[in-house]
Amino acid sequence: MLRLFTHAVCLQHDPGLGHPESPARLKAVLQALDQDRFASVDRVEAPRATREQLLRVHTPEHVERILATTPDADTIRLDEDTLMSQASAEAGLRAAGALVAAVDAVMSGSATRAFCAVRPPGHHATPDTAMGFCLFNNVAVGAAHALAAHGLKRVAIADFDVHHGNGTQDIFQREPRVLFISSHQQPLYPGTGSPEEQGVGNIVNAPLSSGEGSDEFRALWNEALLPKLHAFKPQLVLVSAGFDAHQRDPLANLQLQTEDYAWITERLVDLARAHASGRLVSTLEGGYDLQALAASVGAHVSALMD
Ligand SMILES: [Zn+2]
Repeated sequence: MLRLFTHAVCLQHDPGLGHPESPARLKAVLQALDQDRFASVDRVEAPRATREQLLRVHTPEHVERILATTPDADTIRLDEDTLMSQASAEAGLRAAGALVAAVDAVMSGSATRAFCAVRPPGHHATPDTAMGFCLFNNVAVGAAHALAAHGLKRVAIADFDVHHGNGTQDIFQREPRVLFISSHQQPLYPGTGSPEEQGVGNIVNAPLSSGEGSDEFRALWNEALLPKLHAFKPQLVLVSAGFDAHQRDPLANLQLQTEDYAWITERLVDLARAHASGRLVSTLEGGYDLQALAASVGAHVSALMD
C-alpha cells in the first residue's frame, strides 16, 4: 500500500514571482495525483519535524536561523537562489516531518511505500547552510531517523535529480550505515558530484553529460548504480526524486522521457523488494517544467503502487 504525505502549507512557501521553485509545482503534482488511478493512495497530512529530528543532520545554528526567519511580508533572501516567505519555516518543518512520518509508516508496516509530495526540496541543504532552494535536508532527516529511531544498519539513498545532492553527501560522507548513490548532470549547479568524491566508500557519484538521455541514464543505473545498491542490501530505500533531468526541464540539459521515471522507479521498487521487505520512501526534489513534472510524478507514483 502506498501512502502520500503532504501539507497545505507546502503550497504557501513562496520564493517570489518568477522563481522556478514555485507553489505551482506542488499544485501540478497534487492535481496529477488527483486522477482516478490514484484513488487507492492513502493521503496523510505531514507532521512537523521536531528540533531533535532536525539536529541529527543540521547544526543548532542552522535550525534556529531557519525557524527564526519569518518575514511579515515579501521574502528574505538567504542566498542568490534560496528565499523564504512567511510560511517557509513551517513548510520546511512539514517537508522534513513528512520523511520522518513516512519512515515510521514503512518501518511499522502500516504502509509498504510512501511518497512525500512536499516543498521546499531538501537535497542541497548541508549541515549548516540553506542553498539551492532547500532549507532542511528532508531525505537526510528521514535517513537519520531510520538509523536513530529504528536502529537500521543499512539505509540507501538513491538520488536521480539532475543536480548533485551535495547536502546529502556532506551529511553522510562519514556515515557507513548510509549509502548515497547519485546520477546527475555535470557540469551543473552545485558543482560537486565527481566520481572521486567517495566518502568512506559510501558515496557513489555518476555524472552524465549535457545532451545525454534515456540510453545513457539507463545504462548508468543498470551497469554501475543498481549493482552497488543491491550489493549493499539496504534495509530501507529512500529516493530523492527530482524530475529535472526531463527533456522539457528549463534548468538542465539531460533528455530523459517520462517513461524513464517509471523505469527507474520499478528498478528501485525491485531493490526494496529484494532486500528491504519492499520498504521504500520517496520524496519530491526538483522538476521545473510543470507539464513534465506532473506526468513524471504520475509515472513515478504509478510504479510505486504496483
Ligand atoms: Zn534539481
